[in-house]
Amino acid sequence: MQDILTSWFVQGMIKATSDMWLKGWDERNGGNVSLRLTEDDVAPFKHTFHADPRYIETTEPVKELANQYFIVTGSGKFFRNVALDPADNLGLVRIDNEGQGYHIVWGFVNGAIPTSEFAAHFQSHITRMQATNGANRVIMHCHATNIIALSYVLPPDSASITRHLWEMSTECLVVFPDGIGVLPWMVPGTDGIGLETAEQMKQHGLVLWPFHGIFGSGPTLDDAFGLIDTAEKSAEILVKVLSMGGKKQTISTENLIALAKRFNVTPMSDALK
Ligand code: 13P
Ligand code: ZN
Repeated sequence: MQDILTSWFVQGMIKATSDMWLKGWDERNGGNVSLRLTEDDVAPFKHTFHADPRYIETTEPVKELANQYFIVTGSGKFFRNVALDPADNLGLVRIDNEGQGYHIVWGFVNGAIPTSEFAAHFQSHITRMQATNGANRVIMHCHATNIIALSYVLPPDSASITRHLWEMSTECLVVFPDGIGVLPWMVPGTDGIGLETAEQMKQHGLVLWPFHGIFGSGPTLDDAFGLIDTAEKSAEILVKVLSMGGKKQTISTENLIALAKRFNVTPMSDALK
């Protein structure tokens, strides 16, 4: 019988959350991650499931996610502790048939519940599933330092921030041609911010929450991590460039168009002007 702690998805969550902690993106309980799993993924581990699973109602119905499984970080849990005690800090949930709630089938052994941003994760999963034909399975939120810092000084609009990030590192346009969506400041942990995030995720795999953090998506934990890491690296360069007195030269519009052509991506048009 296989131990669920050795499964690719528990090990993957440990690696992602540990790396995010080491990056400095997840102080205290900052950040949350969810990964959608299939029946086949969890089948070998059902013998470890709770005999009497707790049931929690969703704040908004999520019919589109009926019967899906998610492994998710717990609310108030510290990423730096996930590797030490995965079954305390992570939980595996199964959405019910109507999308009205979910059972905690494994983990959260000391009574924890999923992240307070679960509404934003659910709505974003629905959007990204539809936008990518089911390929995207990960939603990742963290408090990436430099991207937060930039939200205090850059004009708060998607085209402008996307263009700034593209110019700070040649790979950026190739890694996130869809750019980054930007929300106004909103109260976190609410259905409202969840719905707005998901709306942005129709167009963008990345969404900035000003003065708070970033949401990223992707097919795998590595992809979502790599996407945020690339944007955050670019943000760090921009912080340094602005601290040195600003750009004296940069990647031009023509350069960006040539990059898109070579790597066969369609860049967000508003950011190419
Ligand atoms: P949780 O501990 O509930 O996941 O909250 C952390 C966070 O970053 C909220 O935006
Ligand atoms: Zn947060």
